[in-house]
Amino acid sequence: MRSWRWQIFRNMRLFLRWFRLCPRRGNRKSRGRIQELWSYGKLFLKSLYYNSLTNSDTVLDCIFEPVYWVVDNVTRWFGVVFVCLVIALTSSIVLIVYLCVLPLIFSTYPIHWILWHLCYGHWNLIMLAFHYYKATTTSPGFPPQEKCDTPSVSICKKCIVPKPPRTHHCSICNKCILKMDHHCPWLNNCVGHFNHRYFFSFCLYMTMGCIYCSISAKDMFFDAYNAIESYRNMDMHMEGDPVTGAGPLFSLLPLGYRPRQSYYQTPPPPYTFQERLFHKSILYLWVLTSSVALALGGLTLWHAVLITRGETSVERHINRKETKRLKEKGKVFRNPFHYGRINNWKILFGVEKRSHWLTRVLLPSSHAPYGDGLVWDCPPHRADLMAI
Ligand SMILES: [Zn+2]
Ligand SMILES: [Zn+2]
Repeated sequence: MRSWRWQIFRNMRLFLRWFRLCPRRGNRKSRGRIQELWSYGKLFLKSLYYNSLTNSDTVLDCIFEPVYWVVDNVTRWFGVVFVCLVIALTSSIVLIVYLCVLPLIFSTYPIHWILWHLCYGHWNLIMLAFHYYKATTTSPGFPPQEKCDTPSVSICKKCIVPKPPRTHHCSICNKCILKMDHHCPWLNNCVGHFNHRYFFSFCLYMTMGCIYCSISAKDMFFDAYNAIESYRNMDMHMEGDPVTGAGPLFSLLPLGYRPRQSYYQTPPPPYTFQERLFHKSILYLWVLTSSVALALGGLTLWHAVLITRGETSVERHINRKETKRLKEKGKVFRNPFHYGRINNWKILFGVEKRSHWLTRVLLPSSHAPYGDGLVWDCPPHRADLMAI
């Protein structure tokens, strides 16, 4: 085996040769010489890191390794903080709805609108809380550690266990995850085979809840915003408005004739503390729910597209690369886990008959997903389900 001294010696030799080739005064414009110099420079650089298995991905991975390490550790240790943040923010919104929005709805809306708000709001809240709890507490599913007969597509280099199809290693959990989608810091959990449905339903119901709050509180937001603006302007005027014993008569005089004042009277506040708190709470509710509705709505839509295609987030990248590679060879890539648009949704939600759309999708349900996440064959409940 060649020693490291030999490697250094070889690199030094290349460097000296490159140095000797540097253009001198008389032939600076020599194009061929510059090209030769450039190729030697590249060769010298490559000799520093060359390995028969090295490619641009490996080099980039090595460069970004410290960044990955920091991100992984931050995500791992801050997972609990993120979960607490989700619970605190959601609770604050629910509290504002109960204390500010609902009383106003009760006092101003007709009975059918009150019933709609009560029924929809509580159903949305129950679905949201149920799916968040299940998504954070349900294990995503891990491949067996002991030797078994389950089919595998490769070996995990970190766990040293066979990887079944759709399984990927999570560097934050430091485990292989069945049908891994991604590691979600907001759940402090990986999204995999057993909690994919809970994750998607949580995103969906959270988006729906935010849209509902944003639309319901829209008029109240504009009123609160105008009120805040008006009392801010009022405060600015009041601060410099002098009051004298002569009363309002002086205010009729031109500015130059008004006597200089030595004290100011504090006017009574136009809005009480509760009213100001109410306005600010409405402002907070509307801004937060609208922003979350936009951001999370986009993410939910993206996951909906992936589910329709029968892909996970990880597979999206792999399949895109594979499609490009096969296209160059004149071939077409077919996703083996795409069972048809509607069927992909049925598999995700575990819908086996029509009534399941109500009992398993629109109501809280803890049913297990289709299959064990180790074997991916055609689901048996529909004869027309064929991998295309
Ligand atoms: Zn692994
Ligand atoms: Zn993970």
